[in-house]
Amino acid sequence: MKINFDVSSLPAPCYVIDENLLVRNLEILQSVQDRTGCKILLAQKAFSMYSVYPLISEYLSGTTASGLYEARLGFEEMPGKEVHVYSPAFNPDDFEEIVSVSDHIVFNNFRQLDKFLPFIKKSGKSIEIGIRINPKYSEIETEIYNPCRNNSRLGCTADNFPEILPECVTGLHFHTMCEQGVDVLERTVAKVIEKFGSYLYDLKWLNLGGGHHITRKGYDIEKLVSIIKYIRNKYNLQVYLEPGEAVALNTGFLVSTVLDTLKNGMNLAILDTSAACHMPDVIEMPYRPEITGAGMPHEKAFTYSLGGPTCLAGDIIGDYSFDRPLKEGDRLIFSDMAIYTMVKNNTFNGIKLPSIILHRQNGENEIIRTFGYEDFKGRL
Ligand SMILES: *Cc1c(COP(=O)(O)O)cnc(C)c1O
Repeated sequence: MKINFDVSSLPAPCYVIDENLLVRNLEILQSVQDRTGCKILLAQKAFSMYSVYPLISEYLSGTTASGLYEARLGFEEMPGKEVHVYSPAFNPDDFEEIVSVSDHIVFNNFRQLDKFLPFIKKSGKSIEIGIRINPKYSEIETEIYNPCRNNSRLGCTADNFPEILPECVTGLHFHTMCEQGVDVLERTVAKVIEKFGSYLYDLKWLNLGGGHHITRKGYDIEKLVSIIKYIRNKYNLQVYLEPGEAVALNTGFLVSTVLDTLKNGMNLAILDTSAACHMPDVIEMPYRPEITGAGMPHEKAFTYSLGGPTCLAGDIIGDYSFDRPLKEGDRLIFSDMAIYTMVKNNTFNGIKLPSIILHRQNGENEIIRTFGYEDFKGRL
């Protein structure tokens, strides 16, 4: 990926979000909205950098949240836009405030609906109420990311559905995909229609969840458009999509510095960024982030295992090869670091959090946030 900014002047470690790259994604998503009449929401779970919410809100229809804090962030930082919220189980302590900041509330089952409906009625607010369904169909192979795994707690299965939906329910929601293309959506929609199609005629909206890699190169947007139009026309529904990844895919970088190099069996380098603290999906997913100018192990002359500065033995980012030996002070730039990074950061081992930088469309780098000791201490 092309780096459009000078990294030498930036405080490392830092995340750099490139506004131009973000706009490119947003334009693609907006075109899907324009062509289909669907509404696309930012799933804040993946990306909650609210300093760019004003920009995002020029393109998307709102935000979706996994609970009170995300809902409130969307409400505060994208004023006037839709706020959707779903939680596997809502906390009664939060619910009054959730109602005050949300306009769509999706329940995990009918028990939750019964429990919280009185709060919604009492508020006097007009809220669109949905149920998350579990169509028991997913093509996700990583179990930890599979909402349709055996005994999943996420979503209501068809056998737990009443014959006739309560009148207050105006929509259904499913989320069963992860980093997938439109063929998976097509097969999923077929299952949803098979199991839940009879309910759809009387509803106002259907939310197709996230996991659609719409802004990835090669994604079949034409087919997405035709699927959305098919659903809309057949059932007369407002269709929602709520991607997280696709909004900020390939729009951010993590700039890190080599702190030391050593050798034990192979060449090792220790960076000021940690897999465990700053890119936890590298360990959790797991995956191998790209580094600008680096290759696969042994593809280039000098191969290193890159690790973080924590005491965790497994805080290893991976093996990479370089044209020249690494040395103290070298800058390494990881790409695709906007999503599921900042939102998952932690200060394990007292490791410093990377600063957040916005590379503006006018070419300026704006320091959005830097972190220090207080951010570590303040949570403990
Ligand atoms: C995680 C999640 C999303 C966003 O998923 P992406 O893979 O980031 O597109 C959307 N909706 C729900 C309910 C989710 O849990």
